[in-house]
Amino acid sequence: VFITLEGGDGSGKTTQAERLDRWLSEQGRTVLRTREPGGTAVGVEVREIVLHHRGDISPRAEALLYAADRAHHVATVVRPALERGDVVIQDRYIDSSVAYQGVGRVLDPDAIRGLSEWATEGLRPDLTILLDLDAGAARGRLDEARTRYDRLEAEASEFHDRVRNAYLAIAAAEPDRFLVVDAALPADEIAAAIRTRVAELL
Ligand code: C5P
Ligand code: MG
Repeated sequence: VFITLEGGDGSGKTTQAERLDRWLSEQGRTVLRTREPGGTAVGVEVREIVLHHRGDISPRAEALLYAADRAHHVATVVRPALERGDVVIQDRYIDSSVAYQGVGRVLDPDAIRGLSEWATEGLRPDLTILLDLDAGAARGRLDEARTRYDRLEAEASEFHDRVRNAYLAIAAAEPDRFLVVDAALPADEIAAAIRTRVAELL
């Protein structure tokens, strides 16, 4: 079972991934929790480039770097885990690229999705949880939590609004794959909503 978490920076993906991991493990499930970019040794190096390179990266090059991270991660970590029968809980996947590189960077979203489908040989999540938060609230949370911003977090709120709307449009187009949760709710309520949906899937 392949579960992905999506949403803007500061929407609480990591917290919810941890909580879902703990709950599934208590049920006796073997869980692999991972993330993109940076879920492999190669990915850690790619992550450093895409998030902390000093200076511009052309938008297409940036899109290819995320796709390269993803190709290696799916081939060497995610597919083997799914073949073993693990539940994979993953922080960010293809929808992040469609939202950030496709819509945020104003590349062609369909081309970006196609690139990732090639990179992953078409691996689709069984469930994607979208933690939806408006850009202003997300910024407030990040300002509390961060001492340094990565290249994307430092983008203007207009960029983050585009990303949020892109996520909502993707979710509306594929309602069966998505659970959309209001990320402004208390973490306990969000975790409970996620558990209910995941229980249906198992
Ligand atoms: O969620 P995480 O902190 O790991 O994401 C790292 C950064 O990479 C975030 O600022 C996110 O906006 C950005 N990102 C991106 N495109 C992706 C994946 C992540 O711009 N495909
Ligand atoms: Mg982040």
